Amino acid sequence: MCNFENKENLGSNIYADIIIDISVEALDRSFQYRIPESLRDKVCAGSKVNIPFGKGDRKVTGYVIGVSDRPKIDVSKLKDIESLCDKQISIDDRMIGLAYWMKEQFGSTTNEALKCVIPIKKIIKNKVERQIVPLVSMDMLQEEIKKAAKKHATGKLRLLEELTDEYDRGLRYELVTQKLNIAITTLNALTRDGIIKIETKTAYRSSLGKAAEAGNIKPIELNDEQKQISDSIIADYREGKNLNYLIHGITGSGKTEVYMSVIDEVIASGKSVIMLIPEISLTYQTVKRFYKRFGDSISVINSRLSAGERYDQYLRAKNGETKIVIGPRSAVFTPFDNLGLIIIDEEHEGSYKSEQSPKYSTREVAFKRGETEGAMVILGSATPSLESYSAAKAGRLKLFELTKRAGGAELPSVHIIDLRDEMKQRNLSIFSRKLKSLMNDRLSKNEQIMLFINRRGLSGFVNCRSCGNVIKCPHCDVSLNLHNNGRLVCHYCGYERPMVNACPACGSPYIKSFGTGTQKVEELLNKEFPTARVLRMDADTTKSKDSYDDILSKFSDHEADILIGTQMIVKGHDFHKVTLVGILLADMSLYTSDYRSAEITYQLLSQAAGRAGRGEAKGDVVIQTYNPEHYAIITAAVHDYKSFYDEEIGFRRLMNYPPSWNMLKILLASENEEALLKETDRVKQELVGKIESFGQADVKLFGPSQATIYKMNDIYRMIFYIKSDDYRKLVLIKDELSKEQSQEKGVGMQFDFNPQ
Ligand code: ADP
Ligand code: ZN
Ligand code: ZN
Repeated sequence: MCNFENKENLGSNIYADIIIDISVEALDRSFQYRIPESLRDKVCAGSKVNIPFGKGDRKVTGYVIGVSDRPKIDVSKLKDIESLCDKQISIDDRMIGLAYWMKEQFGSTTNEALKCVIPIKKIIKNKVERQIVPLVSMDMLQEEIKKAAKKHATGKLRLLEELTDEYDRGLRYELVTQKLNIAITTLNALTRDGIIKIETKTAYRSSLGKAAEAGNIKPIELNDEQKQISDSIIADYREGKNLNYLIHGITGSGKTEVYMSVIDEVIASGKSVIMLIPEISLTYQTVKRFYKRFGDSISVINSRLSAGERYDQYLRAKNGETKIVIGPRSAVFTPFDNLGLIIIDEEHEGSYKSEQSPKYSTREVAFKRGETEGAMVILGSATPSLESYSAAKAGRLKLFELTKRAGGAELPSVHIIDLRDEMKQRNLSIFSRKLKSLMNDRLSKNEQIMLFINRRGLSGFVNCRSCGNVIKCPHCDVSLNLHNNGRLVCHYCGYERPMVNACPACGSPYIKSFGTGTQKVEELLNKEFPTARVLRMDADTTKSKDSYDDILSKFSDHEADILIGTQMIVKGHDFHKVTLVGILLADMSLYTSDYRSAEITYQLLSQAAGRAGRGEAKGDVVIQTYNPEHYAIITAAVHDYKSFYDEEIGFRRLMNYPPSWNMLKILLASENEEALLKETDRVKQELVGKIESFGQADVKLFGPSQATIYKMNDIYRMIFYIKSDDYRKLVLIKDELSKEQSQEKGVGMQFDFNPQ
């Protein structure tokens, strides 16, 4: 039978496109075969088949990636499919099955879905395995560390410190360059100075011995709360229950320790683990923690890996050389043959939703893999997504709570400051009186401060105080941002122009920038706190990948007193000397035109607050706002997720928003506005007809409307939203529209289920 219930393909189709080999390159090298009569109602996209191949008609197996009723070449030259392979067994089969499920579930072409699950094949040259060993005495190494610290050579410092830990054995070259993120230039410099040597060892892996293999850190003893969770999950695992879990625990409550304890069990039972972490939190500190515990059985996937390295990791996982893969979203496709566990840390993160077609939800993919491959899924978050929490409440996930900070650190005290009062008191500074006094206090105690600017909303735009005109990008229909070099810049397409002196619409000279950017805050800080050492982290200062790590490690080494940044700074890092966090304007994310704005605000505020007081000293958090009564702000301030959830889910239910109902976004796009509008009309007719045919009130159509940015990069975009409490109906609508797709030349259509 057809494996993927791909109804549209059965019956009249006589020809099948088949790939012989599982790799992205092979997708573009498919071969057409004829489907013999006896197999016509059995073969569909996704089927695994036996075929004669090449001059000698060698018998090989292939995968059908598409079927049609038209031959591409002379029919007499086509060969017949010999037979269907009986059983799905190999990991390749399962991953291809997953791709077809994704295509159905999220809407995309077959190739797009397949490209998600199979990596680009690169021939890896025979790798020499290298080891970095110290050439100087331990004392001299210590001297070098002091020198590097003085020069703020953070990469060098990190390497030398690691080397003192592993003085006798040295460090694996890959560990140093990939996991510790040390630049090759740093290695070259140290080699030149005779401090290290890069040794080529052919069989060093075996010479490392047991200690390195297992990692060498003794696990922390779990506290009662943690132990209860870990024991409970492990008991389910041993009984083969195959359940899914949500661990809700504030930042620092010890979720990661729980994950590691469950990972231990799964590995010991001979199965493999996928650990997903948002790329932005996939820091040196995190990786090192896992490396120390699990040694060489882990491998890390991040965007810095080349295609070849990625393929290498893929093969290692497939061959069972790796037991644990740590990585962002795409690591969910790691082809472990014996998967036991998928963990999604910080499951609420937007980066778990793919931005490209198929716009899959990593969570859903993980559940699907878990179900078909008998693996459990653990979600963890301090601020669970409404989707996951409501699934837990409905009993689809087993819910655990961690209520205390594990290391014994206290939660910070949170102060909500009403900015309207500051105005009444004639304080026109962006720092409220409370924040200013706490900042002075911390600076005098030599403790660190983080200032957070919530940039999810609009800010930095220029408008006319006389007529209200906003200066916009001529290509993107969004407001231009004023940079302090006096230029107006479009953040979508990069268009630039000089700042204007008068309003182009009415000529008024009262035109200026609104809101506060990170640069502006830095300027004001320098004015109000001239002796404080300030670091700034935003898109401008982190253009290169290293600068991001550089800024964080500088701050971590206390080379600055204050770190200013956007949401980038609130993730991952654990700064023990930070005892004050200031959120300068909490409201910005409340005003986005997104039904999730309250949820996003709650998440950002709790994460920002979670940065304070992670060490011994207790912390303070100051939230400045014009909306001190808003439930997202009030509940975030007291870490009361449950009250926030109750309030927010009520709103979602009332408005039929996810997770209460499901939503399908259909985007039509074209360079040709007229063609776009014509196609939009046609789609509308079809949608109305289709929805009527359901004959029920549980499908609702919204739109068409122009996209928030109607014209981007000279492409026009129209949007429909369809809401339904039944996901399958949305899938049916998607299938229907895909069939008719590209009727109008040059109009693209994209689907996004439960968009973010
Ligand atoms: P989360 O993942 O929830 O943010 P972590 O597992 O990273 O929390 O733990 C936060 C901090 O508390 C870490 O420094 C960790 O080493 C420490 N910690 C975790 N569990 C314990 C424990 N049982 N006893 C002592 N310290 C712990
Ligand atoms: Zn004007
Ligand atoms: Zn633009």
